[in-house]
Amino acid sequence: MGNALFSPFPFHSVYSVEDHKKHVDWIKAISPKALVSVKVSSPTDVDMVAVGSYYAGAHIIHIDGSYGGTGAAPDIAKKNIAMPIEYAIPKVHEFLLQEGIRNEMTLIASGGIRTAWDIAKVIALGADGVVIATSEMVALECIRCGKCESGRGCPRGIATTDRELANAYGLGWATQRLVNLFHSYAIQLQEILWRFGMRSIQEMVGRSDLLSHQDYVTKPASASGELAAAH
Ligand code: SF4
Repeated sequence: MGNALFSPFPFHSVYSVEDHKKHVDWIKAISPKALVSVKVSSPTDVDMVAVGSYYAGAHIIHIDGSYGGTGAAPDIAKKNIAMPIEYAIPKVHEFLLQEGIRNEMTLIASGGIRTAWDIAKVIALGADGVVIATSEMVALECIRCGKCESGRGCPRGIATTDRELANAYGLGWATQRLVNLFHSYAIQLQEILWRFGMRSIQEMVGRSDLLSHQDYVTKPASASGELAAAH
């Protein structure tokens, strides 16, 4: 309390796979039963980082792509660092498959995943699961003003240590808002799976053949005409 925080948080003692392994070893020594999740940005060699994390002893590789970030993270960090997860996930998924360790590593993705359709997309690209953050904040009525770390903290009472501001909303209300969000995800994902005749989200992992890039979808002549007319 009373100390300034940095966002994104820097790890000044980790510059190599060996440094990384040292951290994983510490965690395992302290909590031998813990599942170790390594959260990394998505540099061009993110596939090598994933395999390195596996051999360092991690159970989960969590790829955090661009576009996400806390309200306090500067735009330059959010929008200019790391490749989009749409490129990073298949790269890691395929490389883990080639190395024969895909089933031994859980692949989690985050960074700009907002809707049930975003979730389905990253699962189809090869992720096992996702981390949602901004949508949860918005469900709690975060207005994305970027003032989380300024002054007394969040004026909505979400990111603050100020008791008066923190009382701006009730725990019961906030809990129900998050329950509603995840319930809506579940309903929408069930419908997406139903349309593909799938019984489980696991059947969708790596099914990038189900995706189409909207920029390259050939539209019928009449539809193009309507679009052109609309513009
Ligand atoms: S509403 Fe609160 S949590 Fe959201 S960006 Fe603003 S200060 Fe941060």
